[in-house]
Amino acid sequence: AKEQGRNTYRFYTPKLTAAANERLALEARLHRALANDEFVLHYQPQFETDSGALIGCEALVRWHSPEEGMISPARFIPLTEETGLIVPLGEWVLRSACTQGRRWMDAGHPEVTIAVNLSGRQFQQHDLARRVAAILDETGLPADRLKLELTESMIMGHGEQVVELLHALKTLGSRLSIDDFGTGYSSLAYLKRFPIDELKIDQGFVRDIPQDENDMEIAATIIAMARNLNLKVIAEGVETRAQLDFLTRQGCHACQGYLFGRPMPADEFARTFFR
Ligand code: C2E
Ligand code: CA
Ligand code: CA
Ligand code: CA
Repeated sequence: AKEQGRNTYRFYTPKLTAAANERLALEARLHRALANDEFVLHYQPQFETDSGALIGCEALVRWHSPEEGMISPARFIPLTEETGLIVPLGEWVLRSACTQGRRWMDAGHPEVTIAVNLSGRQFQQHDLARRVAAILDETGLPADRLKLELTESMIMGHGEQVVELLHALKTLGSRLSIDDFGTGYSSLAYLKRFPIDELKIDQGFVRDIPQDENDMEIAATIIAMARNLNLKVIAEGVETRAQLDFLTRQGCHACQGYLFGRPMPADEFARTFFR
């Protein structure tokens, strides 16, 4: 056993070290990226289903690395969440998105809501509401033009403190949306207690419409439930006309997805959707 242990040790060490080194290197690059302003926001439109009107957009972060070009958040958000870098990065995202929203407003573009993703780490800050208020104040974006996207795991099972934070954010006048709805641990009882404005149906339930009957049933149920609770409901990942038709028939208020537009830089967004 001793012999085997030693072999195992020798066998795995170089590999583990390589992975750890890679992580450390990436972590260092991410810190530098934030200092060097290498992150950019792309904006993806959200449309009201029955009128077809543009109602807002979701800000999605990308890393414009000088070495590798545009890097998707799937590749770096998890590490920034582990290391805590997501807190300053998330604040940068919020400030940039609010600044952009205000710029569009000043240019006389139609009213749109800017949705920003919050991470669990940001949500653990006791002074989050104060920080959000300060950014709204600094950028001049009216609070009701900001929508904060939270996930179920961030709010379920965390007790009174979370309810207080949600109410504090709500009191600012911003909207609250539950992202990836249906994929996490959700309690319908909680939904009634939380000052939530919107449920966002996860793209996993949209992708296989109209082939997958279970997904259609789930999407229809979420829409019906949201409507009964007087919440707005938006579907994400809408790629086809058939998906849009189904969601519209079910009474889904809004849609977001490649069918309408991919996430794109702010200037392209303005050229494409503000006319
Ligand atoms: P998410 O919040 O669920 O964002 C939706 C993702 O689906 C985006 O990927 C978007 O580009 C993609 N998407 C939109 N429409 C379609 C479609 O029709 N079909 C398909 N297949 N995909 C579509 P993205 O931009 O790569 O972001 C991935 C995730 O990274 C986000 O998922 C979010 O969890 C996280 N993320 C992005 N930006 C931020 C941020 O600023 N802060 C935090 N905390 N997380 C972020
Ligand atoms: Ca989101
Ligand atoms: Ca989502
Ligand atoms: Ca997602």
